[in-house]
Amino acid sequence: MSHADLSSNASRLRPSACPGLLRIVPALDGGICRVKLARGELSAARTLAIADAIDEHACGIVDITNRANLQLRGVKRGHEEPLIAALLRAGLGPSGPQDATHAFADDVRNLMVSPTAGRDAGALIDTSPLADDILTRLQSDKRFAALSPKFALLLDGGERLAMLDHPHDIWFSAMRDPKRDDVLFAFGLAGCPPVAEKHAGAIAAVAASNVAALTHALVHTFLDLAAPEHTRMRDLLAVHSVERVLAHVESKMGIALARDVSIERWRRAPADPSLRLGAHRQHDERRSHVGGQPVLGRMDSATLRGLARLVADNDGATLRMTPWQGVLLTDIDTTKVAPTLQALDALGLACDAHNPLTRVIACAGSAGCAKSLADTKADASKLAAWLPADAQVHLSGCPRSCAAAHRAPYTLLAVAPGRYDLYRTRDPRDPTGFGHCLARGLTIDEAAGMLNHAALPSIPSFDEPSDA
Ligand code: SF4
Repeated sequence: MSHADLSSNASRLRPSACPGLLRIVPALDGGICRVKLARGELSAARTLAIADAIDEHACGIVDITNRANLQLRGVKRGHEEPLIAALLRAGLGPSGPQDATHAFADDVRNLMVSPTAGRDAGALIDTSPLADDILTRLQSDKRFAALSPKFALLLDGGERLAMLDHPHDIWFSAMRDPKRDDVLFAFGLAGCPPVAEKHAGAIAAVAASNVAALTHALVHTFLDLAAPEHTRMRDLLAVHSVERVLAHVESKMGIALARDVSIERWRRAPADPSLRLGAHRQHDERRSHVGGQPVLGRMDSATLRGLARLVADNDGATLRMTPWQGVLLTDIDTTKVAPTLQALDALGLACDAHNPLTRVIACAGSAGCAKSLADTKADASKLAAWLPADAQVHLSGCPRSCAAAHRAPYTLLAVAPGRYDLYRTRDPRDPTGFGHCLARGLTIDEAAGMLNHAALPSIPSFDEPSDA
């Protein structure tokens, strides 16, 4: 099949608004092409290929997404097919034959792992081989073409650096087998690994050797039981009990899943997102991972080339995207940490949490998205200059919250150009949405003033008298 046929097949058979590598969707600033990265990883050669592709076929910038993928923006009209061809030539497309189902194999590549998978000193298991196995199975089963491009999975190896607050249709999280010295994977549906007592516990656990087969069986079970209008696991669970879903899975696999109170009560150790920035020792003490944050998660082709150079210059290093819209270089020899940090700084990446640019995120905003009521990127840059220490803020052009799948402590939701409602929450999984509204229609100056207010917790909520 030609690249044009693949692309039109993707758009015709799945009328989705979600961009993909083979489905470039229009936006205000040109087309958007999303490149899904296996385990968030990019080789030096592929990083250079993307840099060349965005210079030639787009406006020269990429955004890192909250699922550690890349979004190429500003694809020029008439350049869609050559861009797709360049990305496929670089090996950035899905695996398998380029036939009519190729586009769907791209859509199902929604498996997130920790950016420090295989390197994290606190992990219970290296999830990398298992992640590759699951990705291969997802891409090779043509029935999975029926899944929504948003259907998403998490494979958590117990790393200290992990994004745990994004809801997933299916999540797996490594846990110590309470009965023997081994690792099991607890799992759940339509949610996140439990960290606090109030979180819903795992529904069962499975040996690591059965995780890939269980994933396969769970996705088939979803497709067996879901009505056409059910696109996500939460839709299925609204009409079928967890017991019903598990019974279906067990009969498919011919095994009984481990279910007992110790699994239900199990809680994952809290993660430490601060490890996404700066240098930290890996499990191999002679090596470190080094992380940095491009301004508002956006990089140009020169930055990509600089990162590719760092990977090439550091033997064994890998480049990984993070769900905090940052980058991480792994396997940096400890003696090379200081020059690597300097190089990231020279590329414009913030590596220190004291830098306010590491604590503000924003969606594409009105410069790129017709739904946005404000220029969130420009306003976020302005706000960063006045951001108080420790404040983390998300600016969203509309309630869809493209820049964050979790809830930031503070959200500025655009209501008009340069005007925002300010929300606060203390729960990154807040079921009420952005949290309590503190004030409406603020300018960026006014929002900065409120965020800097020494007694911010005592500011009356717009919706509620207190946040307690
Ligand atoms: S959050 Fe809304 S305004 Fe921002 S990019 Fe997404 S759809 Fe557009």
